[in-house]
Amino acid sequence: MSDWQTVIGLEVHAELETESKMFSSCPVVDSVEAPPNSAVDALSLGMPGTLPVINMRAMEYGIMVGLALNCEIPPLNQFARKNYFYPDLPKGYQISQYDHPLAIQGHIDIEREDGTQKRIRVRRAHMEEDTGKLTHVADGSLVDYNRAGVPLLEIVSEPDISSAQEAEAYARKLRAILRYLGVNSGDMSKGVLRFEANVSVMRSSDRALRERTEIKNLNSIRNMTRAIEYEAKRQIRLYQRGDMVKPATLGWDEAAQRIVIQRYKERADEYRYFPEPDLPAVAVSREWVAELQARLPELPDALRRRFVDELGLNDTDATVLTADRAVAEFFLELLDGDGIDAKAAANWLTTDLFRMMNAQEIERENINSIPLRAGQCAGLLRLVQGGTINQNTARKKVLPAMWRTGKDAKVIVDEQGLAQVSDAALIKRQADAVLRDNEALLQRYLAGNDKVINALFGKIMGAMRGKADPAIVRQVLQEKVKALKE
Ligand code: ADP
Ligand code: MG
Repeated sequence: MSDWQTVIGLEVHAELETESKMFSSCPVVDSVEAPPNSAVDALSLGMPGTLPVINMRAMEYGIMVGLALNCEIPPLNQFARKNYFYPDLPKGYQISQYDHPLAIQGHIDIEREDGTQKRIRVRRAHMEEDTGKLTHVADGSLVDYNRAGVPLLEIVSEPDISSAQEAEAYARKLRAILRYLGVNSGDMSKGVLRFEANVSVMRSSDRALRERTEIKNLNSIRNMTRAIEYEAKRQIRLYQRGDMVKPATLGWDEAAQRIVIQRYKERADEYRYFPEPDLPAVAVSREWVAELQARLPELPDALRRRFVDELGLNDTDATVLTADRAVAEFFLELLDGDGIDAKAAANWLTTDLFRMMNAQEIERENINSIPLRAGQCAGLLRLVQGGTINQNTARKKVLPAMWRTGKDAKVIVDEQGLAQVSDAALIKRQADAVLRDNEALLQRYLAGNDKVINALFGKIMGAMRGKADPAIVRQVLQEKVKALKE
């Protein structure tokens, strides 16, 4: 019997979007767009004789993240030197935190696939500086120090995550929180948010965790979940063969869709941490913490609860609409219009609008780049709610035309004559004509094939170019066939 379970702990590196670097006034630039080594100073390059100065804005952002993750903020935190050699680290050490991190003992609540919630504990979050970036080319390696010294928050979870799906939910929730706080764009393709997964497997009878491996440099959530699934299977196979899992640093080969072993760890890395002598310890007063707490915006969980409690949305819609700050804001702006029904709007946004966006391959977080403003969407919904057009006309004709032209719904309805027809006498005449022209269908219905009624309904709607009020059509049709049956 296979009773293996997966155990995952995530280490997340999030750059904090400050104007300047962690320990100097050197500007922080876009790592993809800026020319290499265009934002460096003596400190980023680790020149002898330079002295770091703490970027207090970065500390504030870090504390705000800690608070948003329900962490305790210890009254004192301290930087520490992490000593190692690597070409992307010109000083020969990284300023990080060790014994006295910025934030400890928090949690993130995730929604699982079965709809239940699970609490994942956050062990710690500490401040450090990012390193430079190496690009390996045919005859060597190139180094870009633009990123060196950018404020970086490392957020470490407890090994509470039990599947690739839970890891994905954790990653998405954490990313959403960072974006709600406005401290990180969440753009993994630019490397401003990076995940490392520690993975082990265990049997339900095990008393302790087993040896783990660490998968580095996962550059998308999809790659992370695939790598975790692959690695868990690999470990189970090893145990089943009677082998052991050796502690190792792994990578994910995206092209080959497999794990590659980068190096085995004979023993724990020795970084010879010691308190950073060039920086003072930072006292974090309770007043400061309270002030930052008060500055936190409404976060995804709170907004989700409000959508359920105050707007009456179901859990699924509320979760989807708050998963991304831009989507939540778009939805709230849409509701700002007079007399918009929240449930109908939520339903429309998560089905019709998302379908359009999917077709155009627009990510949900980029909802602001669609050719429609929230107010225009409200205009469309109002026409449906007021009975001017029916749902189907809105979906099939008006929305696509709005998308194409950027015009308001009302204009399109007027221009194309799409207003709904509720004139019962007219609908009756059309129904009579359709029944006359479709004698065979009608006979099948009268012979007991109830489903044929839908085909007849479709024919009447079609005859009226889809504009008839579907409720009236259904009613008229029922009356007619009932009369014919008798
Ligand atoms: P290190 O400091 O060497 O990276 P930690 O003990 O701080 O090691 O753990 C780092 C990460 O590994 C944490 O996210 C933790 O939850 C996770 N982790 C620790 N033990 C295991 C294990 N047996 N299986 C999976 N993840 C683990
Ligand atoms: Mg580690």
